[in-house]
Amino acid sequence: MTGADTSTNAEEFARARAAMPGGVNSPVRAFGSVATTPRFFVSASGPYVTDVEGREYVDLVGSWGPAILGHAHPAVVHAVQDAASRGLGFGASTPGETSLAEIVRARVGRGDSWPLDKIRLVSTGTEATMTAIRLARGATGRDLVVKFAGHYHGHSDGLLAEAGSGVATLALPGSAGVPAAIAAQTLVLPYNDLDAVREVFSARGSEIAAVIVEAAAANMGIVPPSHGFNAALADVVHAHGALLILDEVLTGFRVGSAGWWGIDPVPFAPDLFTFGKVVGGGLPLAALGGRAELLDLLAPLGPVYQAGTLSGNPLAVAAGLATLEHLDSAAYTRIDEASAAISTAASEALSAEGVAHVVQRAGSLFSIAFAETAPHDYDTVRAQDAFRYPPFFRAMLDEGVSLPPSVFEAWFVSAAHDERAIDRIVAALPGAAKAAAS
Ligand code: PLP
Repeated sequence: MTGADTSTNAEEFARARAAMPGGVNSPVRAFGSVATTPRFFVSASGPYVTDVEGREYVDLVGSWGPAILGHAHPAVVHAVQDAASRGLGFGASTPGETSLAEIVRARVGRGDSWPLDKIRLVSTGTEATMTAIRLARGATGRDLVVKFAGHYHGHSDGLLAEAGSGVATLALPGSAGVPAAIAAQTLVLPYNDLDAVREVFSARGSEIAAVIVEAAAANMGIVPPSHGFNAALADVVHAHGALLILDEVLTGFRVGSAGWWGIDPVPFAPDLFTFGKVVGGGLPLAALGGRAELLDLLAPLGPVYQAGTLSGNPLAVAAGLATLEHLDSAAYTRIDEASAAISTAASEALSAEGVAHVVQRAGSLFSIAFAETAPHDYDTVRAQDAFRYPPFFRAMLDEGVSLPPSVFEAWFVSAAHDERAIDRIVAALPGAAKAAAS
């Protein structure tokens, strides 16, 4: 840390470390890989967050995705306040849950294809993917699951092998505490490698319940699927009677109204979708959905059990409904434009300093890879000059721009990133590029 005095943040971090492992409740917040003091935030509004010292930052983390309208959007805050005044939760059904399920179903369509008959609401993306896998196993009577290296689907036991996000940031192959018998049920393949998919299916196809794939990989930095990858994957999976689980927890309702699935250049038909982040508008809510014959296998209709004390919580439902209501095409256009402006400025600043880099994009999501050529899988992502990111990150932070604290994370732009916010980012970039070059 070169510039600003962060003594109050440092004191907060010391207090936090004495009370919580690593001082955090989610590992990447400890700022370990960027080697500086994590900031402790006390408020946020629009594209800005403010730390305990009263310092304001332009935020490109966006609560890791949910803050797509900007922080504390008045309509979302009002909806939550209104819901809270009527009760924080009933442990019973509410009309709002049905409305949210209906809206999710209505949004996720493409041409004549409307793949969601039914939705179940849960509280986290981890629960959504875990339940989708249990459902796939229940539906097929098979045990094996295929995932891709560098993809992150939350922290359930079977999905942590070679996972992206914080697992990648900490350079872990998986997690201690996962029984070998459970890890053995997950087969990990290189991303964007159809030959590897075909090989594993020809060897063990009759044992595979499902393939789970991020709709566009966004937890090892951004690595978009190669043209037609998802569609070809769906063909192989379906030819062997397995199910395709499309994880849109990060991309859903962010890269477009119908998620990545709605904009993938080659149409395809997943069996189950998972959503999180944006769909909960910043509160704990996630979902899985698919055809009625699959979703109806869930209890109470079917034999696959899933439940949750806080599932469909009325505050979270209110935040999700208000967020989706304000995510119209104008909002997506603003996000696309802001994302293009920020990523172009970052690339120009790095080029001016002669820093080899590639802007990796999936719709409005982007990240910067410090490499000569675009990474296409976890191995090529890890081969980049990742050492350039911490000085780049710290220089941006010193100038009041909060980037994701890991090179393996996406930059999250919101509809509230206006000209003033973008100007502040652009002004910080030349110094950061210089830091990255040295
Ligand atoms: N799936 C994807 C693609 C994600 O990006 C994440 C979280 O970042 C998850 C699942 C897990 O969601 P949660 O952190 O809400 O458990």
